[in-house]
Amino acid sequence: MNHRRLLLALGVALVGSTSPVRAQDSGLAGTYRAAADSLIRAATRDSAAYQRLARLVDGFGHRQAGSRSLEAAIDWILSQMKKDGLQNVRGEPVQVTHWVRGMESAVLVKPRLDTLHMLGLGGSVATPKGGVTAPVLVVSSFEDLERRKAEARGKIVLFDVPFTEYEETRRYRSDGPSAAARVGAVACLVRSVASFSIRTPHTGRTTYDSTVARIPAAAVSVEDAMMLHRMQDRGEQVVVTLTMGARQLAPVPSRNVVAELVGREKPDEVVVLGGHIDSWDVGQGAMDDAGGSVAAWEAVRLMKELGLRPRRTVRVVLWTNEENGVEGGRGYRDAHKADLGRHVMAMESDGGVFAPTGFAFAGSDSAAALVRQAATLLGSIGATKVEKVPDSPDADIGPLVEEGVPGIGLRVEDSRYFWYHHTEGDTLDKLDPGEVARCVAAMAVMAYVIADLPSGLPRS
Ligand SMILES: [Zn+2]
Repeated sequence: MNHRRLLLALGVALVGSTSPVRAQDSGLAGTYRAAADSLIRAATRDSAAYQRLARLVDGFGHRQAGSRSLEAAIDWILSQMKKDGLQNVRGEPVQVTHWVRGMESAVLVKPRLDTLHMLGLGGSVATPKGGVTAPVLVVSSFEDLERRKAEARGKIVLFDVPFTEYEETRRYRSDGPSAAARVGAVACLVRSVASFSIRTPHTGRTTYDSTVARIPAAAVSVEDAMMLHRMQDRGEQVVVTLTMGARQLAPVPSRNVVAELVGREKPDEVVVLGGHIDSWDVGQGAMDDAGGSVAAWEAVRLMKELGLRPRRTVRVVLWTNEENGVEGGRGYRDAHKADLGRHVMAMESDGGVFAPTGFAFAGSDSAAALVRQAATLLGSIGATKVEKVPDSPDADIGPLVEEGVPGIGLRVEDSRYFWYHHTEGDTLDKLDPGEVARCVAAMAVMAYVIADLPSGLPRS
């Protein structure tokens, strides 16, 4: 850029930052520019959200459904929300699945002795005491298993499927164990659902088909899956001992965390924003999903602090047990069944709190047009993209979207998310305070504008 153009660009930037209403603003963007800019300034002036997230994950660790740490974290959040001055702060009761991993290991017995890096899958049954020792059949897809099904009986089937995209690859984690059981396998291993690996196994929920035997199921690291595959390709016999002490205990009481900033004109109409407060039992669950939970919470706290009280109520909801069954999301829908018609929009962040890029939106075209206009207010933090999607953009708001509530998910630069997802590596240090702050800003501006629109969001 030459000097003349640089000066011109600086001049435009200066005019832009000092004028409350920009020349190109019109309609919704013009009405809300000043409020949006003050929310963005407040969210990005310091690292308050990151510090709060650090206090949460360092103070309580991971927060698996059924664990004491989850309930202790919920107690702490409720007390902090009251100190923040939020309204109607409460825990809404939800019964949650209580699955515990117990002791577990996978040992390569042939062609040589070695330890494999594994994590049992959530919901898996245990092996018999002493484990299951069996030859391994490595397959690269469901179709490959179908072709080789005659070889599967009595074996441990390993799905060595490279990561393409989360929803596509995680089918092997969800459905692989029952597919293997259907052809007579005694246990199932899956290559971790990971876009990059330093031999870290990734856990996650598996779901059994009730018409076939429930066999023990675990994820192994990408490196281990690829090694076993190479051994098979060389014609070597691969034998593994899988030992798992997992137990499904009786369901226990948990809570969805709820707090509000009550609307100034239409308090019965609600914009929900949140994340899920539970995590897997590894790492700190910092990005999945303490980060989304804190971003939503901070968004509402900042509105309160700035005296920005929208027409409708903004309600932060931190759902419990997303990971092992979306019980918090379904519980919220059931508890609020009579009010779902007055839910103007439900927003969730559950894709990591990296640099925000925009939103995915499920709802009518006319609602999407308003959401797109609101997103233009996020130009200074790069979060203006709005993609229309056919289904709920995130899991916990799924039950609401199915009932017709417009749903919106925060979208971020997620190229590193599946490096850490559901592993010991999901810890605070992977996150950047400035990026977390911009996620808070994006959620705050979108929630505020939609909650304040004179006419609400048109439904499909
Ligand atoms: Zn999550």
